[in-house]
Order: sequence, then C-alpha cells, then structure tokens
Amino acid sequence: MRYGKSAASIVVPESAVPVVDLAARELQYYVRKSTGAEIPIVSEGSIPPGPGGRIYLGATNAAAEAGLSAGQLARDSYHIHTDGDTAYLVGGDGDGDPLHKGLATPAGTLFAVYDILDNDLGVRWLWPGTSGEHVPGTNDLVISARSETVCPRFRFCGLRTNRPEEILWLRRMRMHGADGMTFGHAFGKWAEKYADEHPEWFELTCEGRRRPGYSMCVSDAGLQRQIVENWCAERSRNGTRATVNVCENDYNGECCCPNCLAWDGPEAPQPRPSYYADSHNVSQRYARFAMEVLKLAREHDPEAEVAMYAYLNYVFEPVGMKLDPALIAGFVADVFFPRTPEDHEWVKQQWQGWHDSGATLFLRPNYLLNGYCMPENWARQFADEWAFCEQRGMMGTDFDSLNGQWSTMGPVLYVIGRLHARPKAGVDEILNEYYSGFGPASEQVRAYWQYWELYTLDHTDVLQDGTDHWTTYAKDAYKRFPPESFDPADELLSEAERAASDDPDAAAKVAFLRTGLDHAKLTIETSIAVAKAKSDEERKAAVTKLREFRKTLTDPMAVNVAHNFFSCVEREKASGWPE
Ligand SMILES: [Zn+2]
Repeated sequence: MRYGKSAASIVVPESAVPVVDLAARELQYYVRKSTGAEIPIVSEGSIPPGPGGRIYLGATNAAAEAGLSAGQLARDSYHIHTDGDTAYLVGGDGDGDPLHKGLATPAGTLFAVYDILDNDLGVRWLWPGTSGEHVPGTNDLVISARSETVCPRFRFCGLRTNRPEEILWLRRMRMHGADGMTFGHAFGKWAEKYADEHPEWFELTCEGRRRPGYSMCVSDAGLQRQIVENWCAERSRNGTRATVNVCENDYNGECCCPNCLAWDGPEAPQPRPSYYADSHNVSQRYARFAMEVLKLAREHDPEAEVAMYAYLNYVFEPVGMKLDPALIAGFVADVFFPRTPEDHEWVKQQWQGWHDSGATLFLRPNYLLNGYCMPENWARQFADEWAFCEQRGMMGTDFDSLNGQWSTMGPVLYVIGRLHARPKAGVDEILNEYYSGFGPASEQVRAYWQYWELYTLDHTDVLQDGTDHWTTYAKDAYKRFPPESFDPADELLSEAERAASDDPDAAAKVAFLRTGLDHAKLTIETSIAVAKAKSDEERKAAVTKLREFRKTLTDPMAVNVAHNFFSCVEREKASGWPE
C-alpha cells in the first residue's frame, strides 16, 4: 500500500506509551526525509475524516478489532498486518523509556517501524546521528502487503554505551534487553559481608592463605547454599528474578584447596602468545560449581537458571562434561581482533566445546575496548566468528563495550550492528550496504576500507600483541600504524572526495571519514612526539596540539574522545601519556 503524498496518517492510541511515541516520530521523520511528505501523527480519537491510508501503531482499538492483540505478544515481538490502505504495527511494548541504556523496555512496535524503514524504505544507519543516515528518496512510502508476526532472534542483545545517539542506533539495529537475566561479576561485595564469618568461601592461595575479595572457593557447599539463599531472598523481595548469578569476579579462578583442584580437568591447549599462556584450566571446576548451584536452585524453582561466564582461565572448553541448557554461559574469549588463523580457530573450538556440553551460550566480548582511534578493519573476521556462534546456539550478546570510533572502525561497527538486525546476513551483503551509503563515492570508499582491511590482516602480529594492549595502545600506536601507513589511505580517500564532490550527502559522509583519518594521523604524530620527547614541555606541547584539534571536532560520533581517554590517559602509568 502506498502512503506518503496521499493523505495518510500515523494513528497512535489515546494514551500511547513512550515506545509508541518514539516509533511514530521515527516513522514520520524518515517518511518526510525520503518522500518530502509530512504524515501527521494523530491519536485514535482524532483521526481526520476522509480518505487516506492509516498506519496504526501500538495497541490501538482498531488493531484489537482487527484481531491483533498486543497482549498475546512476547516482549520485543511484533505483528505487521496490512489490509487495503490500512497497516497495523502492534508490538510487545513496555511502558518505560525506550532509550534507557539497559535497553530494558520492551519495544516491539518500535522494531516493527524499523522493519518497515529497513525493508520498505531502504533506510540505513551507517553510524549514529544524522550524518550516518542513508535515506533513499522515493515518491511514497510503500508498505508491502504482509501479515506476519516477528519474534526477536535473541533473548537479549546489546553493546554497552551511555551515549544517547548510540543507544538510539542500537534500537535501530533491534537490540533489546531481557526479563529476569542477571549476570556480571557476582561476588564483588562478598568479602565485605562474609569474610570474617566464612573465610572458607574465598580462594585458598597456593601458599595456604584464604584471600577474600578475589576469586571464590567454588567447591564449598556452604558458599553454594548461601548463593541460593540470597537468590531466594531477592526473589521474594522483587518477585520476578529468575536467574542465579554465579559469574565469578574479574579474576582468574585461583583457589588451590584440594576440593577445588579435585574438580579440575586436564590442562587445555592454549593460544600463544596470549595471556592465557600457562593458565591453569579451571573450566570443569566452574561448570560443576554452576551445576551444583542449579541443582540447589531447582529445589525452589524448577524453572531456575544459572548464569556464569566462560572467561579467563575458565574459558577453555569443558571437555567431558554434560551440562544443562539452564546453565547460561557468557563466552568471553579475550583473544582480540585481528587474530592469527590459529587463534581464531582456537576461539571457535572453545565455543564449540561449551556448546557441545549442552550449556546455553551468549557472546560477551571485550574486543571493542580495543582499536583506540585507529583504522582497524577486521569486519570479516568478526563476521566469521558471528556466523559460527550464531549457528551453534548463540542466545544473546552483551558487548563490553562500544568504542564509538565510527569514523575509523566504521565497517566493523556497522557489521556488528547489522548482524543483530539480520543475524544470518552475509558480510559482503552488509559491507555493500555500508559502501552504498556513500552514493557516487561508494566504490572509492570500498577501496579505502579494503586498504585498511589488508593492512590490518597483514599486521596481526603488531596489532595483537597481548590482550591488555588496549590499555597501552596510545603509547606505541605509532608502531602499529607508522605515519607512512597512512599515505595510500590518504590518496584513496582523496579519490572518494573527488567522486562525492557533486553530492552533498555523500561528501559529508566522506568528510566524516576524513575527520577520523586526520585525527588518527595526528594521534600517531603525538604518540611519536611523546615517545621521543626530551622534556615534559615537549610532551605537553604535543598533547596540547592534539587536544586543540579535538576541540575542533563537531560530530561526536566521528571520534569518541572519552574512549581515547579511557584507554590511555586514565591509564597514564601504563601508557606513558602525560597529563
Ligand atoms: Zn576451593
């Protein structure tokens, strides 16, 4: 059905929840941008008389009369139903803020609108903010005839960020939270609370000392009982919590007590070099711990689930174990991109092993902490990991974090986002979408990013020299990207600028990439100046020059200055940047 320049309306319920309000504004905005037509948003009691298409959003009476009830829908699911010149978009919606950073508010109607914008209008969001929008022009919004119910592929999925433009972008990529899922380092406060009374719940060092505040003595039955007791107490307070969180603190599992050691399996093959090298494998210990807790929790609730991490020295596949699907493991293989082929295979093997054990997995990567503000392009390698996991039981994602370097890691970030909206799409298809967004410069932009892709994969050794390197990236960034590495990229981007020169939208998008390249080059100059400076004054002068340049940046999505600070200045001692 055609809408747009014909007299159509967006119809919302009399008292629409914020999700539906946002859905209506998004639809109106992109239809205006695409067709030039302003479709009014009206509430159901004030529909203007006369002909014209109607697009009903949310739990309207009209949708209910058409047999489309929001009440039957799971959170974040939606119906799209067309009937003549009427379309109904009805979602499983919550009444909270759709742009809350935890993506906790169910937003089915909003996702239905993004489905239409994506599939019927061809809108693309190459990066957050208006400069990243690609909106093909058309005469009318045409919603293809359909009647379907769409359920989210994942139970929860997202990238962690506080920036509002990025949260909106995550929604456009159909990311959402979940009910009753609790995970994250669980024992941070246990030392304070229990160390005096129950020192036996905390790791025993190999020197024979209990050490509260690090890892736990997970084979201890009293610890397991207390975890479940606390979970029961919390459930009776808030009524809904379903998951028992046993994600270990941010440390290796180190307990050396005889019981814990007796739970361990054989040492595991490890990628080298990495910080797993010579790690004692405690995967079997932690998997058994989670299973013991699950058993106890099921005495209170047969539907209980236990959340753990497969992380640090318990990331290794739990060979020989039969686990339960109610054991939900966040897989955190800290082998960052770009990877050697051997490392890449190793990561996949660990996922495969956890999957084969029967546990349910979600992807919980740290690799977006990395990359600094440099043009790293490992989109294809990431997409290969994604496809592998997606076909092997991936039930969700939680990326810590979103580095927000949209001008220098655009293809990587776009591919990650787009795979959340279209989990089975091929990487070439997605990259083609991204390049197409640059209009007449698309082929030149493709060549630009292909240069960085080849550069990235050819320099795996210097780009991937230890997991913690993201904290020291600034210090020796020039070793990873020496000034001469920018010369071919400069030339390719100039070609893109020439190709885009008659198209203001494409020119603005190429200029966005230029900002990132100029900033990266200046950052490299700074890292060289800091490394070679003979005095604090020289160092300060170099950093000041970079700071002054950063003040001229107008689009906060081009360079995430806060992330640069996070990965270097705040970690001054490790990185050597003066401040
Ligand atoms: Zn122990």
